[in-house]
Amino acid sequence: MFKLPELGYSYTALEPIIDAKTMEIHHTKHHQAYVTGLNAVVESHPILAGKTVEELLKSWKILPDSAKVAVRNHGGGHHNHSLFWGLLKKDASPMSGDLKSMIEKDFGSVEKFKEEFETAAKTRFGSGWAWLVLDLNKKMTVMSTANQDSPLMEGYTPVLGLDVWEHAYYLNYQNRRPDYVSSFWDIVDWDVVAENIKNI
Ligand code: MN
Repeated sequence: MFKLPELGYSYTALEPIIDAKTMEIHHTKHHQAYVTGLNAVVESHPILAGKTVEELLKSWKILPDSAKVAVRNHGGGHHNHSLFWGLLKKDASPMSGDLKSMIEKDFGSVEKFKEEFETAAKTRFGSGWAWLVLDLNKKMTVMSTANQDSPLMEGYTPVLGLDVWEHAYYLNYQNRRPDYVSSFWDIVDWDVVAENIKNI
C-alpha cells in the first residue's frame, strides 16, 4: 500500500511564497487522492503488486491497458508530488559549486537554465509540470509534461519539478501563474536537487 508522505515541515513553512491553506489542501486532499487512486489500481491488478511507483512509471508502456490511465494519473501524481514536497525550503542554502558547474555545462549559465525552466512552466497550457531532468546519458535538460505525466514514463529522471496546476497557486496568485513561477526560486532547496542527481 502506498502512503501519503509527511512533508517534513509545517503548512506555514513556505509563506508567503506558498500559503498554508494551499499547502494543506494540496497535501491532504490532492496528493491523498493520487495515493488512493494508485492503491485502487494496484488492488485491482495483482500483477502490479509489490512494485515501487518508479518501477510502475518506468514500465508504463508495457502495463496492462486497463491499468494505464490510472497508473499514469495517480502513480504520476503520487511520484510528482512526493518529489515536489522534498524540494521546497525557505531560506535554503545557495547552489553548491558542483551543481552550478553541471548546470553551466549543459545550459551555458544558471540564468539561462532558469529562463528556460520558467518558460516551460509559464507556457504549459492547462495543467502540468515543468522539470529539470537528466536523460539516459545524464545530460540535463528542461521539459514540461501535461497533467500528472511523469518524465520517468519517457526515460528521463526528474530532479527538480514545479507543479503548475491551478490548485498549486490559485488561492494566492489567482491567474498570475508567472508570479508564482518567478517566486519558486526563493523556496528551492538546491542541496536536495544535488542529492537527487547523485542518487540516479
Ligand atoms: Mn499538485
